Amino acid sequence: MPLDIDKLRLDFPILAQTVNGQPLVYLDNAATTQKPQAVLDALNHYYQGQNANVHRAAHALSGQATQAFEAARAKVADFIHAPDARQVIWTRGATEAINLVALSFGMQKLKAGDEILLSAMEHHANIVPWQQVAAATGAVIKVIPLTDNAELDMTAAANLFSSRTKLLAISHVSNALGVLNPVQTLIAMAKAVGAVTLIDGAQAVGHLSVDVQALDCDFYVFSGHKMFGPTGIGVLYGKRALLEAMPPWQTGGEMIKYVSFEHTRFGELPFKFEAGTPNIAGAIGLGAAIDYLSALDRCALAAHEHQLMLQLLAGLSALPEVRIIGRPTAGAVSFIIDDVHPQDVATLLDMQGIAVRTGHHCAMPLMQALDLQQGTLRASIAFYNHAQDIDALLLGLKKSREFF
Ligand code: PLP
Repeated sequence: MPLDIDKLRLDFPILAQTVNGQPLVYLDNAATTQKPQAVLDALNHYYQGQNANVHRAAHALSGQATQAFEAARAKVADFIHAPDARQVIWTRGATEAINLVALSFGMQKLKAGDEILLSAMEHHANIVPWQQVAAATGAVIKVIPLTDNAELDMTAAANLFSSRTKLLAISHVSNALGVLNPVQTLIAMAKAVGAVTLIDGAQAVGHLSVDVQALDCDFYVFSGHKMFGPTGIGVLYGKRALLEAMPPWQTGGEMIKYVSFEHTRFGELPFKFEAGTPNIAGAIGLGAAIDYLSALDRCALAAHEHQLMLQLLAGLSALPEVRIIGRPTAGAVSFIIDDVHPQDVATLLDMQGIAVRTGHHCAMPLMQALDLQQGTLRASIAFYNHAQDIDALLLGLKKSREFF
């Protein structure tokens, strides 16, 4: 059955509004996605009918909240094909998940001269925590450069791996370029030299089916809000033996088995990494987002997004003053317009109800490598975008060009 995008759009009440007197054209999905009514209802349902702290009390509400909270964890495990829900750690988002690994694994296991391999297209969230680890341990950061097409230079990557490489931390899909990286190959290269692998899936989970066991990565991180769930909730998946061997990164309530003034025994996985009251509503909301997505035909959604990408790339290519950066394939397209500051174009687009993002997209080293001092314009899609959104953007760009 073909997808009925207009019907699906009704699930996202925010899309029906006008902005600056024009129908909203939301093309900033790489920054955050909109939430279906099912997610909004799940948040409401929890706060209206189940609000209680989890894992603590003997009363009925706490039991219900705990059940819903842990059911959401199991849904995440299924969603990414994790072998066991205990390998799913709740965090505030991808950033916090990477910080957890950096502080707990990186600070403990890395030492002077060890190498951390990143890529030139990483988000700051997958750079800065490793810089902190390098500064504290004496480990060294190495960077996989880009080809002329702004893709990862796999020949250079192969030469960068050595017995000194202890960690590969790399994005599955680039937020700034919309490039799907060959993570499977890179993970295999890392394994061949005994390095641990972390995949930043923040831009992947909303577009692709992810199977952490097929990838065979050691860690996989993502944020709920980029896959139709609430803000403030995210996930660290890790291989069990690694997680078991890692010390807690934050301490306090919820993460303990026994406390006296002399010593503390920490809880088991996943609780040893979840100090304090967690984002219960956020986890339940993310579970609802997974239920929502799972009820749809994800292959059909991906095919629809692919069509939108083709339409967008063809339309942009037909505008003589537009330069597309790299070869985008998934979710986002970055581009610049000759002689015009991206921010000025975005402001004109906003006046037409069109939401895009401008700037460095939290990837300053990438912008430096590509010599894009003013950053780029970025249009990023989700499955609820329709062909009219792309038409509106292309028309908006033409109008902006006439303005300048
Ligand atoms: N990694 C990538 C590739 C991203 O695009 C983002 C957010 O834009 C992050 C990490 C950080 O995600 P969050 O801010 O939700 O922690």
